[in-house]
Amino acid sequence: MSSPYDLVIRADSVFTGGKWRPAVVAVRDGVVAAIAELDEEVPAHEVITLPEGQVLVPGIVDTHVHVNEPGRTEWEGFTTATLAAAAGGVTTIIDMPLNSIPPTTTVEGLAVKREAAAPQASVDVGFWGGAIPASLGSLRSMWNEGVFGFKAFLSPSGVDEFPHLSGAELRAALEEVAAFEGLLIVHAEDPEVLDRAALDPAAVDGGPDYRAFVASRPELAEEDAIASVIAGVRATGARAHILHLSSGRALRLIRGAKAEGLPITVETCPHYLSFAAEHIPDGATQFKCCPPIRDEANRDLLWEALLDGTIDLIASDHSPSTAELKFAGDGDFQEAWGGISGLQLSFPAVWTAARERGIPLERVLGWMAVNTAALVGLDGRKGGIEVGADADLVAFAPEESFAVQAAALEHKNPVSAYDERTLHGVVHTTWLAGRVVHQAGDERGAPGRVPSGRLLTRSTE
Ligand SMILES: [Zn+2]
Repeated sequence: MSSPYDLVIRADSVFTGGKWRPAVVAVRDGVVAAIAELDEEVPAHEVITLPEGQVLVPGIVDTHVHVNEPGRTEWEGFTTATLAAAAGGVTTIIDMPLNSIPPTTTVEGLAVKREAAAPQASVDVGFWGGAIPASLGSLRSMWNEGVFGFKAFLSPSGVDEFPHLSGAELRAALEEVAAFEGLLIVHAEDPEVLDRAALDPAAVDGGPDYRAFVASRPELAEEDAIASVIAGVRATGARAHILHLSSGRALRLIRGAKAEGLPITVETCPHYLSFAAEHIPDGATQFKCCPPIRDEANRDLLWEALLDGTIDLIASDHSPSTAELKFAGDGDFQEAWGGISGLQLSFPAVWTAARERGIPLERVLGWMAVNTAALVGLDGRKGGIEVGADADLVAFAPEESFAVQAAALEHKNPVSAYDERTLHGVVHTTWLAGRVVHQAGDERGAPGRVPSGRLLTRSTE
């Protein structure tokens, strides 16, 4: 008889190997060591049996999170971001290279980030590097330090220390990344289209009018920028990923690129799938993000594209700021900070919207755990419950619901587009490498729990 496992979790419904089944998941040294039938004897130091109504799923992998530390730690920070992640069933985050100061655009900047994150992380944390004009030519050095790829903007990013790339610089970045088989992830809005839109009478001096804000960030901006990325990928062979797609009209281009066999992947975000412009009140700048949340018909197109595989994955684009900045200008959409705070709610929010459409939970896990892990090459280790994978597990009650209270979330700033909404899907327990990092009913800030998250580097195998 083998020695006892560290932990065994018994559940009537475990998502493993692409399907649901009753199983015993046995953990040793932080890794799933065995998956057995419920009637098998599996000795362990600790045995947990999930109550009826709870299913065992892999931890969510969120590849688009702005932690903003150091430099803008008042916007978020590693302690609050990773506690929010754990509370939301997210066990891996990949931090964006901007809004922190310094941005992660140099090897030194990456070291600063890692040093800030290491003692505070309650979930596992990896890092994107940044492709800005000044970092072109030195991307490989960051790649060798283990970043998962490079983020570039094609239009102003919102912060001065992270300038966007011109069309020629985009091409140079793709060439550079192709040389070491890296990955370029792109905020795709075309600056010329945005400049022209700003002169559109429908958008000028929009103030609190949500429709005017949408008119200032037209779908054409996404289409033109995505067309440039596709052309660049075709010319260089580089792998590229389109961040936070909001435009349904741009899907035609992406379908074409994928049919052509180009190495392009696409993400959308929980807020584009949850909200629609028709229901966003004027002045409600907690809903401001770029590209913007568009109308209901557009939202249907995004769901359709997820279901047919045109959109590969869903990531939160958690991009908070202080309440002062989020409500700067008293409801003026041009003044307010553009970013939605959603890390803790991304899994229940997407599940709630999927459930209403009759889409099963396993599809949501595909978009938010399996495919996100694959984007950054962490498949096999993250995103699935399988022997040899990290024991990052979530006890989730899909049919339980809760009312969101922004001030009760672990996020540093109590601003949420989801405030007062009722969501389905309660995260009861989150395990990271077999250790509990969140338990429903925890006090905010999880006092007494030692952060056990690890820093992730891209596999160099
Ligand atoms: Zn972002």
